[in-house]
Amino acid sequence: MVKCRDVMDVMERIAPKKLAEDWDNPGLLVGNPNDEVRRILVCLDVREETAKRAAEEGFQMIVAHHPVIFRGLKKLRTDLPDGRLLGALLRAGVAVFAAHTNLDSAEGGVNDVLAARIGLDPATIAPLGNADELSESLGRVGKLPAPMEARAFAEQVRKGLGAKNIRFVSGGDRPVKKVGLCSGSGAEFIERAALLGCDAFVTGDVRYHDAQRAAALGIHVIDAGHFATEQPVVEILAKRLIEELGDKVEIVEDDAARDFFEIL
Ligand SMILES: [Zn+2]
Repeated sequence: MVKCRDVMDVMERIAPKKLAEDWDNPGLLVGNPNDEVRRILVCLDVREETAKRAAEEGFQMIVAHHPVIFRGLKKLRTDLPDGRLLGALLRAGVAVFAAHTNLDSAEGGVNDVLAARIGLDPATIAPLGNADELSESLGRVGKLPAPMEARAFAEQVRKGLGAKNIRFVSGGDRPVKKVGLCSGSGAEFIERAALLGCDAFVTGDVRYHDAQRAAALGIHVIDAGHFATEQPVVEILAKRLIEELGDKVEIVEDDAARDFFEIL
């Protein structure tokens, strides 16, 4: 058994809060740092079924990537989805901690896990930032061990992430060696990746005009989906927590989560 605060301290070492973007809302969002924790559920999203599972299976704490309170809260109406979810968590005494953009940027976080899963050479991985920015930042650039045909690389990404489908935007005939990536929604970085000389960019949530811009810039874009580019971190984060706290508390990875999108 540990205190909620002990888990918060470990998470601060894994994903320092100072790495979070200004607009973000990471940290302990529900619960009391002094509460006792015996079981922790690690997940991408706190959904209604996540809260139900936590209550039924005796978890005192959820560690999630996406903040369960994000845009600010003006009411707690339990007839509406946000209030219903928070009400269920409070009734069951389940604390919720979120590590969001700080976990994206952290060394060994969401972007590094994504880079590894799509086959980039670990020795070549660097932040997708300008040289004068923090060494840790959203997104990464890295190189494949050998150049690949773009659609073959796209298929490697799909397989590496266990995604059913991906969307591909052709940047022309160029083979892929240098790759930029940003887990979740990273289309805003396509241009930066192109200027850094990346042959391809991997992210999720790409819109039509992002694709148009990428094609004009001559960079391939692989939209593997928000879920598929982020879910792999759950297993790694659970392992990190087990290394740090596994002798005192039980840590379980939420492996039941599925993408909201289905391709029909
Ligand atoms: Zn996300």
